[in-house]
Order: sequence, then structure tokens, then C-alpha cells
Amino acid sequence: MLFFILLQFIIFVKLLLAIIIMQFETKAIWVGQAADKATGATIVPIYQTSTFTQEEVNKHKGYEYSRVGNPTRTALDECLASLEEGKYGLSFSSGLAAEHAIFSILRPGDHVIVPEDMYGGTYRLIKEILEPVNIKFTFTDFTDLKTLEQSFLPSTKMVWIETPTNPLLKIFDIEAISALSRKNSALVVVDNTFATPYFQKPLLLGADIVVHSTTKYINGHSDIIGGAVILNDTLLYEKILLVQKSVGAVPSPFDSWLTLRGVKTLAVRMRQHDQNAIKVAQFLEKQPNVEKVFFPGLETHPGHKIAKKQMTGFGGIVSFRIKGGLAEANTFFKKLKVFQLADSLGGVESLANYSALMTHEAFPPELRTKIGVTDNLIRLSVGIEHIDDLLTDLNNALT
Ligand SMILES: *Cc1c(COP(=O)(O)O)cnc(C)c1O
Repeated sequence: MLFFILLQFIIFVKLLLAIIIMQFETKAIWVGQAADKATGATIVPIYQTSTFTQEEVNKHKGYEYSRVGNPTRTALDECLASLEEGKYGLSFSSGLAAEHAIFSILRPGDHVIVPEDMYGGTYRLIKEILEPVNIKFTFTDFTDLKTLEQSFLPSTKMVWIETPTNPLLKIFDIEAISALSRKNSALVVVDNTFATPYFQKPLLLGADIVVHSTTKYINGHSDIIGGAVILNDTLLYEKILLVQKSVGAVPSPFDSWLTLRGVKTLAVRMRQHDQNAIKVAQFLEKQPNVEKVFFPGLETHPGHKIAKKQMTGFGGIVSFRIKGGLAEANTFFKKLKVFQLADSLGGVESLANYSALMTHEAFPPELRTKIGVTDNLIRLSVGIEHIDDLLTDLNNALT
């Protein structure tokens, strides 16, 4: 009898350990994605339904209405939470909807510190939607912790960072910023879109909330728009959940399913993006028509040391300044055959982007120039095509 109980206990502990120490690649494929209880379907089904039948009033299987919850979305929420090493995941209909839900926990008069260099859409959200309702923002340089320290006010509730930044790939020290913010009782939010949890886990570095545009690497196939919030604190989770339920910016079951399918290969894709990107960056550095290359994997990058400390890879985005301006950039874009001139990033396909007039058009021109989004800046989202084809394409377009 005792032996039997002991055996059961050992089996239980082994199972528990397997769940706890499951590796990233395995979690991406299995967490939240057990075989369907009703049918045995191995792959999570697309529960394309708005509502769920109840046995009697308020007696149901955990789902009532798909704005509030849907099983396909739950699978994605759980998988993303586990990849970021967080307790809770919440999926949204876009990265900006996810960001908006986080900002919605603030109240008029609350103060937020944000970097000068950030995704253009976040800047527009701040300027057009949040500042008009009296949420206060200070734009500062996060590479200088002294400047950051001086930016805190008694009303500072949140510190918002993006690292690496879009499009200049600046690196901010998540651990140091989190420690400083905690001292000032402010929450730290990290937009982890560029690095993905495969290369960087902000919650383990002290951040409170991670936000994603799942449109990018997480889905990885340029065929959906989506966002996600991942966090550990139950009270905060409940606040953001209430925003999600009240505002309703949720992804469809089909988009949730596509994202879930995409995320299964996140690890292999990120490894290849990273490998290709470093070769593209090294190649660009040697080109006579290239003025400057931005890639955190280059030893010359000012954030290289911090990137090495907090990331396990550098990602797939490489930006560079071409010699000249818009005309030269346009010639380059027209000559490209594999790289497509398009917004967005993080898909398996290589894309080229003219940040000043595409992703960062929301910034006023003077500010754009001040932060370094100049008229000759080109951002490449290096895909996972064969590296030789990518280098040939870039070489042709640059000469
Ligand atoms: C694209 C992007 C967003 C916005 O996400 P959407 O899915 O387009 O709403 C936010 N942050 C970063 C870093 C991005 O690249």
C-alpha cells in the first residue's frame, strides 16, 4: 500500500516537473493545446461561434459569449502566457488594441514615461487618443538612466518601453529600468514585439506587463492583425480583462487559430531570422552606398552589450541609412526583387520599409529627424528565404 502511494507520488512529481521544465519549442506546440475533449481533435478547433448554449441559467462549460471568451482564443492566451513565463495571457484584435487596453487602466492626470524612439502607431495613440483625455506623457532617452530618473513625478504610474526599438533598434536595459521604476512605484510595460519571448523574456527581468503585436513574429506569416498582453499580477490582469470585455477588441476564432498555428514554429523561425539578419547586417556594413547600419548584433552597436545581457539572439530587423535621400531609397526599393516594399515586419517573407513616410508618418518631421528617422533610413525585415538570394537581391539593389 505504502509502496503504491509512493509510486503514485513519484509519477505525479515527474509529471509536474515535465510541465514546469518543458522547453520553449515544446510549449509553443502543446501548451493550451491538448486534444479536444469533445471530439479528440488533435489540433485546437476553430470554435466559430458567437454564443454557447447553457443547460440552465448560468450553468455552462465556462463559455457564454465569444467577446468574453472563446476556446480557440483561450488556447492562444495560455500558450502565449507560457512562452513569456507569465501567469495570464490576453489576446486582442491588434497590437494597438492591446496597448490601448493597458493604457486604459490609467486615469486622467496619471503620468507615463515613454521613449522618444518608438513605434509610430504607439506615438499616434498617445498624441491623438490619450493626451486629449489628460493622460500625461514625458518622452525621454532611456539609454541614459539619469535622465530617466529625473523624469519621474509623484503622478508617474507607468514606464513604457520598446526594446529593440522600431526602427532604430535602440536597446534599453529592462532590468535596470524595472528596478528604477519599482523604486518609484511605477509599472513597467515592455513591447516585446521585435525580440519575441524566444529571444527576450521581460517578465523575468522585472517588467510587470509584456505587450505584443502578434501580427509580427508571433504569427509570423503576414496574414493576420493581432495583439497580446501577458502579465503575472492577478489584480492587474482583472483590470485589463475588464477593459477587454467592456471595449471588445478581441481577435476572431479564425485569427486566434492562425496565430496559434504560427506560434508553433516561432523558435525555428526566430533562429533563421537571426542567422540571416546578422549576415545581412555584416554585408550592408561593407557596402559603399551604405552610410550606417543599425543592428544590435553588431559589436559597433551602442546597445550591443546590454542586448547580449538580456537577449539570447538579436532578431531579424536590420535598419540602415542609404547614401542620399528619398530618391536613392526609391531606386533601391524599385530594384529589389525578393524584398517587398511594405509596412509590417516579422513574417517569413523579407520586407523593406521606408520608415519616415510609412510606419513613422505620425511623427512630425522635425521630431522624426531629431530621433534619427531620417529621409535615408531603410528598415529591413529579414525573412527566412535562403541567405544567398537575400544578399544577391540587396547587392543588385544597391549598385
Ligand atoms: C506593429 C507594431 C505595433 C502595433 O501592432 P498592430 O498589430 O499593427 O496594431 C506595436 N508595436 C510594435 C513594436 C510594432 O512593430
